Amino acid sequence: MEYCNIPHLLQTVVKAANISNQLPTGENLAFALTDKSYEAQTTDLQMKISDLISNLVRFVTPQTESTEYDDIIEAADQCLEYVAAGLDNKAGIKAVPDLALSKLSLYELPKPQEIFKHTIDNSESPFVPSLDEKPNAMVPLEVYSEGMHPYQYELESLAQEFWQLEPSQVQPFKELEEVSLIMVENPEGFYGMLNELSQAKEIAIDLEHHSFRTYQGFVCLMQISTRNTDYIIDTLKVWDLMPKLLGVFTNPAIIKVLHGADSDIPWMQKDFKLYIVNMFDTGQAARILMYARFGLAYLLETICSVKTDKSYQLADWRVRPLSPEMIKYARMDTHYLLHIFDVLKNELSLKAQQLRLHPLELAREVFQKSRDICLKRYEKQDLKWVALKRGIEFLNPQQQSILDALANWRDEVARREDENPNFILKGRTLISLATDPPQTVKELLVKVHQQSSILQKEANTIVEIIKKTLAKKSEKAVKKLPKIVQPVQKQKKIETHRPVLYEQKFTVKLIPSNKLSIFAPQNKLEPSQKMKEKCQKIAESFTSIFQIVVEEGMEMEIENTTQETTQATQPQDLEEGEEIPQSIQEKYELPLKNKLSSDRKIKTTTKKQKISDKKDIRIGWLDNIELAPVKRKNLFKKKR
Ligand code: AMP
Ligand code: MN
Ligand code: ZN
Repeated sequence: MEYCNIPHLLQTVVKAANISNQLPTGENLAFALTDKSYEAQTTDLQMKISDLISNLVRFVTPQTESTEYDDIIEAADQCLEYVAAGLDNKAGIKAVPDLALSKLSLYELPKPQEIFKHTIDNSESPFVPSLDEKPNAMVPLEVYSEGMHPYQYELESLAQEFWQLEPSQVQPFKELEEVSLIMVENPEGFYGMLNELSQAKEIAIDLEHHSFRTYQGFVCLMQISTRNTDYIIDTLKVWDLMPKLLGVFTNPAIIKVLHGADSDIPWMQKDFKLYIVNMFDTGQAARILMYARFGLAYLLETICSVKTDKSYQLADWRVRPLSPEMIKYARMDTHYLLHIFDVLKNELSLKAQQLRLHPLELAREVFQKSRDICLKRYEKQDLKWVALKRGIEFLNPQQQSILDALANWRDEVARREDENPNFILKGRTLISLATDPPQTVKELLVKVHQQSSILQKEANTIVEIIKKTLAKKSEKAVKKLPKIVQPVQKQKKIETHRPVLYEQKFTVKLIPSNKLSIFAPQNKLEPSQKMKEKCQKIAESFTSIFQIVVEEGMEMEIENTTQETTQATQPQDLEEGEEIPQSIQEKYELPLKNKLSSDRKIKTTTKKQKISDKKDIRIGWLDNIELAPVKRKNLFKKKR
């Protein structure tokens, strides 16, 4: 420690992280890469960084040979472990742990599970939703058989009322200080909140969840915002009252606004028997509106100009009392959400009109996607193989059977103690025990850095398991492993599948326009002068064909930089029998080094096209193309 100046190091790292966050990504990156010097610079830098990371990773975990993403994570993990080992476990308990500390799985906070012990079921039997009563029922509870989603019918027959879909009048949002914050920590507070919520037309909801020191995970906090109040519910204090929110949550007259609710929905089912009917997921809206990024932080920044520190996502939300920073973070997750909902609804309506759809169609689409999320059912996790997905393929059959036996042991203990198996023993350690099995407790404890009280207690058992497995003929056990032996690369594949929204027929025609809009993403971080130069460059290569107009978000317009546009752009100039070009790039070979991205290609087709995402119908940087819907299935269904 005395060798390096920690505060300085930290500052530098934070600065580096900040700067790296400002580097262009996605569309912005594609755009930036059209500049050759930028490409050369980044490639150079990339190699340097990659070397540096390799060195670091090898320094921390010398056994590592490659430097895949997972190895980096492992190395970081290992670092934290070293730190943990060097800390007196007791020292930090009173103080609210800072982020780094709270990430340490060895950090011994009292486990709050005692409070809701009666609701923990770590058995392998499937989760069965059990409701005592079913408010807002269209179909009575008795009709449902075990394992069904109790609100399936209500969700499937759900249709939003017009006022819920229509653009709202967007009021300026209220700052945190203008709204009262109520911490809900006792029955009185809870019922008071329930009373206000039941009168609301929309409420925003979010959860904070814990998973390091538990098997199935549990909710530590629920935030709810109305137009007038931010509530932070300490779920650990009012755990058994939480199911009483079901009436509000399933009331279709109250819109529940959440952001990225894919996890929240099952979490609420599991811990509180809560289901949601009529949700608007702002994350889904951001997708349909083609926002550059879909995270809440991005919406907060672009819509509300508020910066957040999303690293609190990973805080240890079990901690009590919550630090003011944690409270603020939690609160901000719902405080602005109703305003964002208003804004997005307006944008959806505008966009629908631009696409010549029914003005409410896209809003309805968001509600439909959100409904699909609400239909999800919580399913228990099986964590036997957690953190064991790498490095297994090199084990011989005997090593595999040891690993299998140890994984079983680890899983059993984790379920019994309500811990994450990776806390009991790291996957990496388990593999090293299998490859080089210790035969005595002493050998075991030398080999394992991670010293938890559970490990001490279980040391004998572990050695017994190893000895027993070694003694057994091992051929048969091998069969149990294959499902975890997956090619590693597959996990990193970027999601390419986009669910089908609806089918639509299009004719796409070139409009005899003399304007080409360059898609210039709103990029506040790029000095506009630089951007201007880049645009100028591109413009110069285009001007023989098009007049350049740069889209909004840029402060510049290049108009009529050259003479009249050539007639070559007119469709009637196409040779007889010649097809409308597949894309402008192909026809005119515009000198873009990188076509902005392959799915930007303009489809000139009158065939049926599955519209899975706005990206397919996005014209991208070409505005002078008209997209004419011919026939559309799955139109706005509601009778008016
Ligand atoms: P949020 O919706 O961003 O407030 O996140 C809710 C909860 O999801 C957090 O309390 C975390 O438990 C969990 N979570 C969110 N993001 C991550 C992540 N990147 N890695 C692990 N857990 C996460
Ligand atoms: Mn959330
Ligand atoms: Zn949150």
